[in-house]
Amino acid sequence: MKSRVLAIASASLVVLALLAASCGGSSNSSSSSTSSTSADGSSSAQHAFETDHFAKGAIVGDVATADCTLSGGSASTCATFTISGLPETYSTGPFCPATITTPADQAGIWFDGNGTYDLTGSFIKNLSTFYNDSQWHMYDDLGKVNVTDTQEAFLGAARPNVDPKYQNYCVEGRVEWLTNGEPITKTVVIPTTPVRASRSTTADGLDWGITLDGIVIAKSAPVNAILGAHTIASFDDCGGHFNNVEGYHMHGVTGCGTLDDDHITGETAMFGYAMDGYPIHLPISGDDLKAADLDECGGHSTPGLGYHYHANDPSKNSVLTCLNGELAMSTSGNGAGPGNGQGAPNGGGGPDLTAAAAKLGITVHQLEDALGQSPNGDFTTAANILGISAADLEAAMPKRPDGANGAPAPN
Ligand SMILES: [Zn+2]
Ligand SMILES: [Zn+2]
Ligand SMILES: [Zn+2]
Repeated sequence: MKSRVLAIASASLVVLALLAASCGGSSNSSSSSTSSTSADGSSSAQHAFETDHFAKGAIVGDVATADCTLSGGSASTCATFTISGLPETYSTGPFCPATITTPADQAGIWFDGNGTYDLTGSFIKNLSTFYNDSQWHMYDDLGKVNVTDTQEAFLGAARPNVDPKYQNYCVEGRVEWLTNGEPITKTVVIPTTPVRASRSTTADGLDWGITLDGIVIAKSAPVNAILGAHTIASFDDCGGHFNNVEGYHMHGVTGCGTLDDDHITGETAMFGYAMDGYPIHLPISGDDLKAADLDECGGHSTPGLGYHYHANDPSKNSVLTCLNGELAMSTSGNGAGPGNGQGAPNGGGGPDLTAAAAKLGITVHQLEDALGQSPNGDFTTAANILGISAADLEAAMPKRPDGANGAPAPN
């Protein structure tokens, strides 16, 4: 793991040098900060949404900017754009170890909410002891690890309801195994002038955000389902992996890819934007973490940057914990995504998915994950991920007052 991260770090220095030329430049680039009022009423410069920060190619096509109403009713400006779906400045993988003696530098990592582990051959060999469950046995008599090495195996295993024949498999994917054989792009709507919300939200049904490299920062990987099926949904050293719905997406932040740290000293670099438009910076630890006095969402306001988040350590299997900004209302609506509704999560506003998840025999997280990957209230994709019919999923979902799936969420 170490050598790869170093290689990536040096690669991103080149990118940084290129970015530094554009960020905050005097020419016609978008303004780098706007004045805003934070929740406590104090004014500070807010590091705003800037397309200049993204890697070349991370945004596909044009960025459409328009007036929008945010989830708390605030008027703002929102950018609608499409991300490329594959990191622009690093190669994905490696993921699973080939054999039970494969060293760390030839494989990825695994994190399960309790820790981050090099996904070495010996980690695979030791799984039954590590998880105290004798049903783990992920390798053959010759020491070859069971890896999903075909598209069929990947599609059967890289989903919350793992096909039983892929129990005891280390799961990995490739871009060429995705249904269309190419990266899965995603269109997102992000406030360019973020606004603090009256309360935090877990933005159910939405991803946490996007990286400057053009990939989705997904919610938690469904670890209980993964481990329950005796699989390991391997991550590469950059904390990402493939599934057939989001393509390559990130669950843990290890510092890969395009970074922006030209703004201020004493801060970790920015690597992405949350769905509420606030920047997300790399994790901080130790004394810096104590000094930072982060709020419940891992955010704080600093004089040079305004409000921003620091990502959780990858071991948490959740890049962020919650969002403190208002979310963009989806113009096309999302019947399944309470994150698009006013006041969303943490009780109130959006539909309660607990009953639906129970009906389907899955966790709320799994349901959220699947729904988060089905834009615009279309249940087909979510149903595919969950391995059930769209009709069954729709039947289990809470009914909206107006019965419509395509309309904007109710206020
Ligand atoms: Zn900037
Ligand atoms: Zn995932
Ligand atoms: Zn900070």
